[in-house]
Amino acid sequence: MQVVIAKSILNKTKRRDPWFLDDYTINPYSGCSFNCLYCYIRGSQYGVNMAEKLSIKSNAVDLLERALALRARRKQYGIIVLSSATDSYLQFEERELLTRKLLEVILHYRFPVHIITKSNLVCRDFDLLKQINAEAILPLDLQDKLTHGAFITFSFSTIDAAIAKIFEPGAPSPELRLEALGKARSEGLCSGVSLMPLLPFISDTGVHLDQMFAAFQSMSANYIFPATLALYGSGPSDNRTLVLRAVEQHYPQLLTKYQRLFGTDGKLPLYYRKAFAEKAKALCLQYGLKDRLF
Ligand code: SF4
Repeated sequence: MQVVIAKSILNKTKRRDPWFLDDYTINPYSGCSFNCLYCYIRGSQYGVNMAEKLSIKSNAVDLLERALALRARRKQYGIIVLSSATDSYLQFEERELLTRKLLEVILHYRFPVHIITKSNLVCRDFDLLKQINAEAILPLDLQDKLTHGAFITFSFSTIDAAIAKIFEPGAPSPELRLEALGKARSEGLCSGVSLMPLLPFISDTGVHLDQMFAAFQSMSANYIFPATLALYGSGPSDNRTLVLRAVEQHYPQLLTKYQRLFGTDGKLPLYYRKAFAEKAKALCLQYGLKDRLF
């Protein structure tokens, strides 16, 4: 892993995503060793094996200390998402403790936080997350809507270990993520699922969706954000190239369907996205899961 000196660490977003409510984002690492084939940060910058281009931002804690001191003085409280373009709990985090140190700074300045991860390593930091949850100052416009200051969202494209091994080869297994979700909930943390991206005809079938919603419900998930897949680019490390190659290898009967579905703009056709949104809404109602944080 390379060591880099970053110019900044706290990014102010232009507008909040309705699911993740990100006012700020932090990416302690650059690149991602979980190597999901469908990852949208892929492309020429990181290559086919993103673990090879991974770097750690060695001055991240100092940068965050300065940035949050200023934002807190100006009372510019907002939800900080970790992370938007990497995973804050990569295998290296166990040794580096960088995300943990960043959470200590976030706790000190009382900012709310939203962790999005595919790793059960986040359980290590539940002590800090519980303190942030209790002490964070929510942004004014969310104070009457949210009752927590910390959110932990586990990201899944499937709960089937064999499918996960193909499409997210470097990530902890879905089983470990499910266990971590259950642990977060049993420790009183607000925790749910980012079910994105679902893989057409592979993990978005009626049977697969039912199994997933039942599993998340059994872990007492607070919410679920379901979304479809988008594929871009034609370079050797673009997500479109890698996903289509995996489909060709492991699901050859689906290749023509995928090529037709993802047409020219890389998005699923509107009728498909609409039908999926309706199905997801019905499943949220059926399993008693919210599809938003509030
Ligand atoms: S965990 Fe997220 S950032 Fe990392 S490769 Fe997968 S989709 Fe990309």
